[in-house]
Parts: sequence; C-alpha cells; structure tokens
Amino acid sequence: MSKHISLAPVNSEFMKLNFCSLSSGSSGNCYYVGNEFHGILIDAGISATSIRKFLKDMNISMQTIMGVLVTHNHSDHIKGLEVLTRKNHLPAFTTTKIWESILNPRIRISRDCIREIPMQKKFHLAGFDIEAFPVFHDAPETIGFHICAGDKKITIATDLGHICQTSAPYIKEANLLVIESNYDEEMLANGSYTYYLKARIQSDHGHLGNLQTSAFLAEIINDKLSHICLAHLSKNNNSPERALQTLLRTFSERGINLNDQQRISILNRYLPTEMIRLDE
Ligand SMILES: [Zn+2]
Ligand SMILES: [Zn+2]
Repeated sequence: MSKHISLAPVNSEFMKLNFCSLSSGSSGNCYYVGNEFHGILIDAGISATSIRKFLKDMNISMQTIMGVLVTHNHSDHIKGLEVLTRKNHLPAFTTTKIWESILNPRIRISRDCIREIPMQKKFHLAGFDIEAFPVFHDAPETIGFHICAGDKKITIATDLGHICQTSAPYIKEANLLVIESNYDEEMLANGSYTYYLKARIQSDHGHLGNLQTSAFLAEIINDKLSHICLAHLSKNNNSPERALQTLLRTFSERGINLNDQQRISILNRYLPTEMIRLDE
C-alpha cells in the first residue's frame, strides 16, 4: 500500500466553523465559535444565566462547550466568568499577564479552571487551531483571537485603540471578521462624556471609531473576507444605522463593491445573532 494513503477517517465536521454573537457592546460581550461537536466561547461579559439560556435557545448544550477564551479584564468581558468556572467548571484561557489582572480577592475564579496560553503561538482546543495576538487597549494586556478550522478562519478583535502591525495580519487573514466599530466620531464629540473620557476612548489605547474601522476595512477587503461583523458598539455614542452607513459610504467613496457572497452584520447589543456557517 502506498505510504501516501491514510486510512484515518477525515472528519469534515471538524472543518466546519460556525459563529454567532450572544451579545456585543459596551454592556457585555460573548461570542460562540463551534463545529458539529464542540464549541468555545470568546469572553463571558454577560451573566452566566444569560449565556446558558442563549445557548439552550440555539440547541447548543453546555456540555459541548470546551472553554472560554478571555480577551482582557474589563467587566464587559468577564462578568459571567466566575460563575461559568465555579458552576459549569468551564476552563478559561488567557495569557499569564491577563490572569494577573483578573485574579483578585473579589473575583473567585475556580483555580482548577485557569489555563494559561502563549501569545502568538498556536494552541489546539475543541478541534480548532487558535492563536492569541496582542492589541492596544486601556487594560494591563488585551488580546484578539484568530481561530482556524481547515482553511476557514475567524478573527475577533473587539477592544483596540488602533490596528497595529502585529494585529493587522491576523485581521487581514479572516474569512469572518468580528471587529470593533465602537463610536460615531460626531456623536462622541457632541455627547455628554467628559473631556478626559472622550480623549481616553479616542486614544490609541481606547476604542476604534466608525471612520477608523471603515477606512481600515476599505484597505483590506478581499474576496476571502465573506463576513464582516461590526462589534462592540457604544450605547451612548453610536447606533447600528450610523456604523453601517459609515462603512457603506466609505466603501462607495472608494469604489468598493461587495461580491454576492459578502455580508455585513451589525452585532446586537443584547441578543444572539443568527448562526453564520462558514462551510456553506
Ligand atoms: Zn475593554
Ligand atoms: Zn469592551
């Protein structure tokens, strides 16, 4: 028998890559990535009760969730983490530095659920190859995630003040990109926030605004990028309409036409989106 023939079954289900957002925005963030057998969560910034309910509504059993990937220590990303580790015994994965910023006497993460992951080095979980990459944000450390199954790739980058040379390649590779479009520049300027808070949000370590995100997407859009999900919209300084209009206007100004397969979604603040299946 030729040594090039392998009798090992190729399980195409593991090549599937499904995504949905359970909640996205400054009030709480939680995303699901899964295949036919397993899933993972990215951040747990809403209550564990809501996460369990949303998954149940989608016929996804908690037993199939293999862990939570954590981007940083802000409460809109870790609100439900304590309960998920203590009650559901879900392992949680993030860098050593982010763990140091999360663990304090007030947050009682179950110790046996703590998993440390390397930066910019692949690890394997639930049938996916996953890589964390650094982003600039006003937390001790913040990361994005690049999740691959076969040749399908999802990149999640939700809290970042600017797109740096390190994060850009992960973002450009995505078939499905979850990227922050946090504030409308005009609404933030005219809004009620203090000068200090406005400056912090707009800084290189704050959040991406609609114009910034749109300009970057106009630069990197390519046929492989089939789904753009605008995420982490501010409640006070943005609206889904504004974020979408800014992106469409920018594409139109630069002569960019989406192909028939390309979709833009604005992730809902409080409710799950439809499941996006990258194999279809
Ligand atoms: Zn944050
Ligand atoms: Zn956030």
